[in-house]
Amino acid sequence: MSATDTATLPDYAPLPESAVGPTLNEQGYYVGRVERNLYYVTDGTYMSAFLTTSDGVVVLDAPPTLGNNIQRAIDEIASANGVSNKVNYLVYSHHHSDHVGAASLFDKNVTRIGHEETRTLLLRDDDPARPPNEETFQDKRTLEIGGERIELAWHGPNHSPDNILIHLPDHDTMMLVDIVNPGWVPIYRSNLSEDIPGYIEAPANALAYSWKYFIGGHMGRLGTRDDLALHQQYMADISESSRNAIDTVDPTPYFVKYGENFWAALKGYLDETAATAAAPYGENFWAALKGYLDETAATAAAPVIEKYTGVLAAADVFTEDVTFEVMQSIRLDLGYGAQVHP
Ligand SMILES: [Zn+2]
Repeated sequence: MSATDTATLPDYAPLPESAVGPTLNEQGYYVGRVERNLYYVTDGTYMSAFLTTSDGVVVLDAPPTLGNNIQRAIDEIASANGVSNKVNYLVYSHHHSDHVGAASLFDKNVTRIGHEETRTLLLRDDDPARPPNEETFQDKRTLEIGGERIELAWHGPNHSPDNILIHLPDHDTMMLVDIVNPGWVPIYRSNLSEDIPGYIEAPANALAYSWKYFIGGHMGRLGTRDDLALHQQYMADISESSRNAIDTVDPTPYFVKYGENFWAALKGYLDETAATAAAPYGENFWAALKGYLDETAATAAAPVIEKYTGVLAAADVFTEDVTFEVMQSIRLDLGYGAQVHP
């Protein structure tokens, strides 16, 4: 496919206005004030934040897509306000390269702070772009930097094992990355999350704190408490619809066509007459399972896509993927619909 050959690509619903962030400058970023001396920087897809203090600048995440634009944004704000542009502290939301892969651009003497599991995972990953944080914590830690408070908290695994809440109580702000994309649905498996029950639970943990502005690490604009509530409703609708689909979609046609009696086929294999014994039962068990699970996900996703198209951007692009994984979590983590062989 050539760069201009887009005729065969699918069309999707137009983006709702609530999905669109501010216009980027010539360098490809936008920097805006959250409150007082707290600022956010976005390239339209990724978001970072920084706090100017009397003890230098504290950077919250360093996505590589923003890269050197983070320091450019800091320079712009620091010179406008006559404060230091020197980055002395770097806080990691979690270890993923797409959010902290520009960490090595900052002075090597910068103090890096994050969860203890972030350090463990960064030591494992051994990526020169992401120097491990020397400063760690387990459940909670309050930073006091240049007279500003930053509360770090870990409520268990969600998107990743080490993803933390970054609360700035004196700036009315909560930063929680890769959970809620304000104005947009999550991508693929709930923003590529490792722990789906933890992912579904995470917005409630954030909402338990007092704040007004939300930094989600993604897309172009700040979020609100309403964005988190809308996301929670979207995920709850997917869970409910998944349960209905697990209860109602009939797997029989798939297993009749592709292999109705898997246990009999397995017994045949175990009896060392694999090929001959399995053949009459249909050998392609994965084809049957795929047909069944795909239909269940599509059935569960359909009403959710209809409800959220025009409300959350890309509902028609990713809801079926998100639903597939939520449905698997409902089956595998929660045990819903599990059947024991008689
Ligand atoms: Zn991530």
